[in-house]
Amino acid sequence: METPIDKKIIPGRMLLIIDPQTDFINGTLPVPGAVNAMDSLAEYVRNCDGTYACKVITADWHPYGHMSFDDCGGAWPRHCVHDTVGAAIWPALFDAVFSTSGDSLVLHKGEQACKEEYSVFENPYAAGEIAARVRRHRISHIDICGLAGDICVLSSLRQGMELLPDVRFRVLTRFSPSIDGGRKLNEFIHHHDTLSDTITPLTDGQTDQ
Ligand SMILES: [Zn+2]
Repeated sequence: METPIDKKIIPGRMLLIIDPQTDFINGTLPVPGAVNAMDSLAEYVRNCDGTYACKVITADWHPYGHMSFDDCGGAWPRHCVHDTVGAAIWPALFDAVFSTSGDSLVLHKGEQACKEEYSVFENPYAAGEIAARVRRHRISHIDICGLAGDICVLSSLRQGMELLPDVRFRVLTRFSPSIDGGRKLNEFIHHHDTLSDTITPLTDGQTDQ
């Protein structure tokens, strides 16, 4: 059943949070700075209740034998195996997203053993759900953040900008720690004039109504 549109919220903005999962925070594949970043993001979500018409959390949701794992020939330690503690959404952030106003949902990716899906838009079902929300909530701005900044956030950003050319993307860099210290994500931001890495003001171009 679809969530009814909340009349109190400012239309037009989506918050897209990439893979805020235990394994990437303090589990098998931790991103430096992720604990503070995800706790701060939870606080941000609570503080700006009403800013986002829609909040999407993505989650790596791998089979036990996923191709990206080192014992399957991939580059990463086993992480975010479906239904395990490591795949859980960071509880403080989950609470913040679902206790604040607006349409909130979790979308899985990387569910097939032989397919890597760094970008959420590589998953056809997830990409379709995001596109449907963009239309339904008349989204003109997407704020993107999450883990890891240089891997899945960057891949999702790059593909999202291609697939949704009418939407302006903004990276919330404070909530997007990277394995490489931020080099790749910052380079991408600097080479795309339409992107801003600032997180304030929250409601520029918007009026209170
Ligand atoms: Zn993964």
